[in-house]
Amino acid sequence: MIRSLFKSKKKTKIHERIQDDSYTKLRKKYDLYYHIMDSQKGTKVSIGEKDLLMLSSNEYLGISEHPKVIEAGKKALDKWGSGTMGARSANGGRRFHIELEERLAAFLGKEACHVSSAGYLSCVSSITGFSQRGDNILVDKNMHSSVWDGIRLSMANVERFAHNNPDHLRSILDQLDPHEAKLIAVEGVYSMEGHIAKLPEIVDIAKQYNCFLVMDDAHGVGVLGKNGRGTANHFNLTEHVDIISGSLSKALASTGGFVAGNADAIEYLRTHSKQTIFSAAISPCQAACAMAAIDILETEPEWVERLWVNTRRYKNILDKLELDTWESETPATPIVLGTRERAYYFWKHLWEKGVFTIISTAPGVPPGKDLVRTAISASHTDKDFERIEEAFTYAASKL
Ligand code: PMP
Repeated sequence: MIRSLFKSKKKTKIHERIQDDSYTKLRKKYDLYYHIMDSQKGTKVSIGEKDLLMLSSNEYLGISEHPKVIEAGKKALDKWGSGTMGARSANGGRRFHIELEERLAAFLGKEACHVSSAGYLSCVSSITGFSQRGDNILVDKNMHSSVWDGIRLSMANVERFAHNNPDHLRSILDQLDPHEAKLIAVEGVYSMEGHIAKLPEIVDIAKQYNCFLVMDDAHGVGVLGKNGRGTANHFNLTEHVDIISGSLSKALASTGGFVAGNADAIEYLRTHSKQTIFSAAISPCQAACAMAAIDILETEPEWVERLWVNTRRYKNILDKLELDTWESETPATPIVLGTRERAYYFWKHLWEKGVFTIISTAPGVPPGKDLVRTAISASHTDKDFERIEEAFTYAASKL
């Protein structure tokens, strides 16, 4: 009765498309995505009556419940309220934005930084903010969707190079007009594959062909480099990466995003990126939690150390079971199953044993790479590892 009240009588082409969409029907039938967790404590979550171990969160360091983070968030709420209700370019700018930007810039080793309310927005703006029609964007074909959206909005020409393949990038650059503007876009750590960018080669190429280099380090910050300063720091190449963009919603225990670079570049971004000019600023609580996370990274190195101990332990379990992890080098670890069906059954058997993961199938991943995406965290305990080993042994036996 109530439902029928909401049902529109109008039937446009778009209403028909919505009603007939086979992808949405499939998603709902298999109940694979949009799970609602009823509770969360550390790595434990519950969905209804079912207790599960979280093994796909990007919370690499497990510090979202750290007392310093909680306290900082509460204080910021008390002091500034829930939000600024405006864009930074208009009435939304506050002192804490500048503090966070200065902290982040110093942490990453860059002169300046601009923060926004989502990593997605920041990554879109890291492309649209610096490129325009007539430019050439050279992009790793496995880049995150935010960068593809940035490319589309920029109206620049796009050239894809094979995943993490500097030779292919070079061969494309050899064909391009040396006088045209060029931007190379890579990820520091590829989110699905867990691969680390071949940054030394990419930096050499960027220098040789005079390209502006943008790196999305959403999965490198907090994971690689000194105290988690990210992929550029890991290779000691920070000054050679023009822009480092990323997210506050992974290792940095918050929500939001950033673009860091030299001061001129960031001022240019503030003038030219619509995502920056027309979207409301990051909230006080989010900003304060991210600042506390940076504090923790700088003063408590044990979190990153524990993450890597756990990562090695996890990979050992997967290697023993001879599972294909796409040669992931980082805590972001795919289990490649190759077909949608195999990925689904693997995911389902892990679920049965109380381990929560997510599934990613083509076209989200290249054909034949359908996978279950997992990520280990510093907060997984010995007991968690027992459960992980049991669940993966069971799921592998069912393959
Ligand atoms: N870049 C990469 C590589 C990501 O994995 C993500 C999030 N999955 C984003 C950008 C967007 O970040 P956010 O979730 O903070 O919007």
